[in-house]
Amino acid sequence: MLFTRAGIKTQKNAPHDADSKNAELLVKGGFIKREMAGVYSYLPLGLKVLQKIKIIIREEMGNVDACEVLMPALTPLENWKKTGRDQVDIAYKPNEKTVLGWSHEEMVTPLAKEFLTSWKDLPLSLFQIQTKFRDEARAKSGILRGREFIMKDMYSFHQSQEGLDTYYERVKEAYFRVFQRCGLIAYSIEASGGEFSNDISHEFAVITNAGEDTMVFCKQCGWAQNTEISTQKGGKKCPHCAETLDEKKCVEVGNIFKLGKKYTEAFDVQVPNAEGTRETPVMGCYGIGVTRLMGTIVEAFHDENGICWPLPVAPYTVVIIPIGRKEEFETSLLEAKKLEKTLSEKGIDVLVDDRDESPGKKFGDADLLGFPIRVVISPKTLEKGEGEWKIRTEKESKNILLEKVGEEVLKIL
Ligand code: ATP
Ligand code: MG
Repeated sequence: MLFTRAGIKTQKNAPHDADSKNAELLVKGGFIKREMAGVYSYLPLGLKVLQKIKIIIREEMGNVDACEVLMPALTPLENWKKTGRDQVDIAYKPNEKTVLGWSHEEMVTPLAKEFLTSWKDLPLSLFQIQTKFRDEARAKSGILRGREFIMKDMYSFHQSQEGLDTYYERVKEAYFRVFQRCGLIAYSIEASGGEFSNDISHEFAVITNAGEDTMVFCKQCGWAQNTEISTQKGGKKCPHCAETLDEKKCVEVGNIFKLGKKYTEAFDVQVPNAEGTRETPVMGCYGIGVTRLMGTIVEAFHDENGICWPLPVAPYTVVIIPIGRKEEFETSLLEAKKLEKTLSEKGIDVLVDDRDESPGKKFGDADLLGFPIRVVISPKTLEKGEGEWKIRTEKESKNILLEKVGEEVLKIL
């Protein structure tokens, strides 16, 4: 892809209203555009990142045998009356009959009711990746807390509590894999069920100063608790191992709940068991804030020059920067395009900065936009058929034969 065709416009200055690094860098880099408080457009570069995160999530949800569906965002108020959640103050209500979905238990449970005609249909796990609407009192921190945001929400139905318990643990592992593949270290924090249930739940937290929560945690064994409920403090000994506890601000990137029969009872879901007796399935629900995850990655991976995307979620893995004056630039650009073709054939995402801009501007933008690998092609490097290779997070660069670049990229991908 050529820079001039990729729909990228960077800004020189940070937006004056940016209250966090993700708001600053994502807007400055032209990944997103703020439309109003807590509402953003995702521009070509931003959408590419989002798509990569979604692919990771889809793969991992597939690994726990979940099927993808897409339910409407516009939902009947009637359904919410059945569970008593029609008066929740974060709900947007376009009119007296509808609610913009802020969670989807009220939609998925009646859906499952039609599907579950026999115990053989259990367990059932459905997920969607969809826009949610919440009238947050304080939309803040860029895409960490929006009023419109993308969530992956999943709901599972089981014949028995044991079935749910086993599945819940499988999903927990899948969640760790999702966050790990996004480059993040997540801690699972035992929490109360909150709005959803009186039963157990786990939040997944990532350490970042932009987070609204604080947790005490153990780097050694992974034990963690929200300081709101914990009796522990940073500096004390971990209750599970000999390590000293840390205390840091964090953001909730995911949340899983055991819902029990609250929703299946409300919608009168009954499934005949092997003996023909009708039983009410137990339910679990599992959320990941997809757009919040993207913002969290920026909070975790940036430096004074811009974003440093982890490889699996980078909008482009490699940026090739041809430089030189006049005809020499044309030669560099030609070589850059040749290299782009070779790398693309290997399945590598490549951007060629074909702009008529100074090298300084191109290097600055490459750092701001955070592409993991940069290859500069200049008249000087071309004398030996080489380019200058640099990893975004490293200081040193090295020269590399252009024909070796593909191999080198695949080694670290
Ligand atoms: P929070 O405590 O941060 O308000 P929540 O507990 O209300 O979040 P859940 O209902 O558990 O959120 O939603 C599942 C996931 O969706 C959360 O773990 C979070 O990652 C994400 N999420 C929730 N609210 C927002 C929001 N306003 N903007 C972006 N992502 C959100
Ligand atoms: Mg939550």
